[in-house]
Amino acid sequence: MAEIATNLRAVRQRVDRAAGRSGRDPSGVELLVVTKTWSPEVITEVLEAGHELLGENKLQEAWTKIPELPASARWHFIGHLQRNKARKALGLFEAIHSVDSLRLAHHLDRVAGELGKRPRIYLQVNAAGEENKSGFAVVELREALPELLSLENVELAGLMSIPPAVEDPEAARSSFRKLRELRDGLEEEFEASLPGLSMGMSHDFEVAIEEGATIVRVGSSIFGPRGVAVSTVP
Ligand SMILES: *Cc1c(COP(=O)(O)O)cnc(C)c1O
Repeated sequence: MAEIATNLRAVRQRVDRAAGRSGRDPSGVELLVVTKTWSPEVITEVLEAGHELLGENKLQEAWTKIPELPASARWHFIGHLQRNKARKALGLFEAIHSVDSLRLAHHLDRVAGELGKRPRIYLQVNAAGEENKSGFAVVELREALPELLSLENVELAGLMSIPPAVEDPEAARSSFRKLRELRDGLEEEFEASLPGLSMGMSHDFEVAIEEGATIVRVGSSIFGPRGVAVSTVP
């Protein structure tokens, strides 16, 4: 599995080049390696290659895998989170990329307070209004923002999106740009700081970086396609 280390290096290089092309400092773009469906043995390859920022999208799966991996790994949650799982999630993850309602944000804030934690949260935006995806509608987000900004135990890291899947990465550019413009507009309107933009996946992370992504979530470019290799321990 030496190819995982090779793929990881290649992706990081592409991240750095995309940042450079757009006049940005590569250190301003984090690479979140998405390990969903892959076994602790496979994930260990990434850690041994010196990369510690990892993402999972299912709490149940994360709950069994994370304790088997070194504590040096830093985990971000990128899937849909139910309120009744918030406590579990905050025990495992330092950031939640997928906060999609004011109720969930309030709940995370309360639980974080009880646990004495201060997780970073990204507000997931469903700008295209896709039915099968969660996230704030733009109007909703604007309405909720004053209350979100008042939460004391979570750090508003910024915005996150999963744009509609398209063949050509260039076609995703306008979605990424819109998320950045939305962020810029909200920062100005509410005199708020929303520094992070979690956007871009294997297919389109370079375009996302050119449009301002601060963290890209990349899985299959590093591990290969999911569901092809044997991905869990027998
Ligand atoms: C699976 C997943 C990714 C990574 O997708 P790849 O195409 O494998 O890079 C990124 N973001 C979210 C929310 C995901 O669920």
